Amino acid sequence: MKKLISVLSATVLLMTAAFSVSAAKLPAAVSSGVTVERIDFNDPGFLRGMDVSSVLSLERSGVSFCGSDGEEEDIFKILADNGVNAIRVRVWNEPETADGRSYGGGACDLASACEIGERAARYGLKLLVDFHYSDFWADPAKQKAPKAWADMGVEEKCSAVETFTLQSLNAIRSAGGDVYMVQIGNETTSGIAGVNDFSAMPRIFGAGAAAVRAFDPDVLVALHFTDPQKTETMKWFADWLDENSVDYDVFASSYYPNWHGSLENLTEVLGYAARRYGKYAVVAETSYPYTLADSDGHPNTINASTGLSGDMLWDFTPQGQADELSAVMRAVNAVPDGRGLGVFWWEGAWITVGDTTGLGGAEYDARLAQNRLLWERYGSGWAASACCEYDPDDAGLWYGGSAVDNQAFFDPSGRALPSLSVFGDVLTGSYSGEALRGDVNGDGRVNIVDATAIQRICAGLDQPDSRASMLADFDGSGAIDVVDATRLQVWLVS
Ligand code: CA
Repeated sequence: MKKLISVLSATVLLMTAAFSVSAAKLPAAVSSGVTVERIDFNDPGFLRGMDVSSVLSLERSGVSFCGSDGEEEDIFKILADNGVNAIRVRVWNEPETADGRSYGGGACDLASACEIGERAARYGLKLLVDFHYSDFWADPAKQKAPKAWADMGVEEKCSAVETFTLQSLNAIRSAGGDVYMVQIGNETTSGIAGVNDFSAMPRIFGAGAAAVRAFDPDVLVALHFTDPQKTETMKWFADWLDENSVDYDVFASSYYPNWHGSLENLTEVLGYAARRYGKYAVVAETSYPYTLADSDGHPNTINASTGLSGDMLWDFTPQGQADELSAVMRAVNAVPDGRGLGVFWWEGAWITVGDTTGLGGAEYDARLAQNRLLWERYGSGWAASACCEYDPDDAGLWYGGSAVDNQAFFDPSGRALPSLSVFGDVLTGSYSGEALRGDVNGDGRVNIVDATAIQRICAGLDQPDSRASMLADFDGSGAIDVVDATRLQVWLVS
């Protein structure tokens, strides 16, 4: 026994010595915020997008944003730096009362879309313009026409949609926005612009599409449906659009894992329009909580008492958030014929306007009262009391703050979560643990065995996991190739 211990001690001594000798010239440790498997995108321009429609109302409420390093920056720069390459912005026609009180929900009028488009373009971010053709939220439950269009018939509405779409797009481009794709309606499963007759809806879609074509034939026209778990209904929509000769390019869906079925089914639904009608596919909205805690005093859609139903595979952590997004990207990328164009995270910056975390009693009440004032004044909550005149039965009853502050990519102070880097990490793979660059086989040392491991990866003999992918990229170029093996060998003898 004694002999064994002494042998062990000698081994430990030797290992320690070996480590300390080489430590001086060990390559830098690498670490990302999250571990992400690399995705081989069909198109390097795959849209890794985020909807931040409410962001101007948050800034007016005093919110600022900083990167994971704690440095305050323009949020659009932070997003671009982390690999986001497209921004989605919703447009409501007139989301306020006649005397100018905001309905809330981010106060997303045309002026707001113009400013968001311009700021996004400064950092090379493309724009998906999401027209609701309503003065407030349009979703499967409601598709109310704008106040100004309330008395119009279908023919008149077609004309109004066409004019509003063209004028808005011209305004956004004039302001500097890089319009890339346009949604004619939002989650239009039950109607659009107050038209819920399925024989008339295609004409509204057509009017919006015609405006986009007139604006710029290179801009993509998207139609957006939801409830992808209703597989046959979604396929029916694609057939119905074809039967009615609706002119569009992209079949888009929302995907919220709590309600929307499996990812395999999502690929199937999006793939149907791709295979049969040659359409592109986009997930226009997805999101996932990094925590179940609330931080603004308004209950979150997914919280500790609701949790998530179904077979949820991911944790309520930044890592879980990154896992969800990369899984959805993978599902869209799997759409046949390379027709999967991209994924947009919904409202990834809709954080609290005043952090209630850890407060209790009177302190909590005071902070909540302060938040309410900001939501009312700047429209930075999901709905403000002024919306009662337009949407008395839903938002008019439940108006308040952010129901998704726990699904943002920023913490309550506005600092980027470690998960934000997922938008870029999917291109290369990333590893959240501490490790030595080049230690591909994970034995704690960097030596000739690792060079061989890199060569085997290059030759397609081995499939690296996300950790090995990150470490095999020895020169940090974003790709694993023979240069990495050569550089590592040179480094070993240097
Ligand atoms: Ca909340």
